[in-house]
Amino acid sequence: MRICLECESEYMDDPAECRSCGARTSSPEEAAVWQSLRDRMATEDLVAVATLEGPVEEAIIGRMLVEAGVVYAIHGGSRSGPFPGVDSGGALGFGKLLVLEDQVELAAEVVRHYRRAVVPGEEA
Ligand SMILES: [Zn+2]
Repeated sequence: MRICLECESEYMDDPAECRSCGARTSSPEEAAVWQSLRDRMATEDLVAVATLEGPVEEAIIGRMLVEAGVVYAIHGGSRSGPFPGVDSGGALGFGKLLVLEDQVELAAEVVRHYRRAVVPGEEA
């Protein structure tokens, strides 16, 4: 069985990507780790890693973070990361990327990696 890391749809036929939202699917074991990270986000301090430049960057970096195993929330962006139903205010882009303290380095590396890739030669 595979479970979508973003919307938690469950699949019996093991697709690599979710058919409802396109995010990566995982084994039930990995999904359980993911869920425990989400649970921690409700109670632990979050760190703002970056301010995303708009909905495109938000969508792409969000997807890369999921690939890297980083659970995140976006404050003020066009959607709210892994918390369905949390109102982010409806603003488009310019969201702050929030992660757990022990995932800051991994998340920052994803952001650097993306920004290096789209802006050749520019220091992150
Ligand atoms: Zn999904």
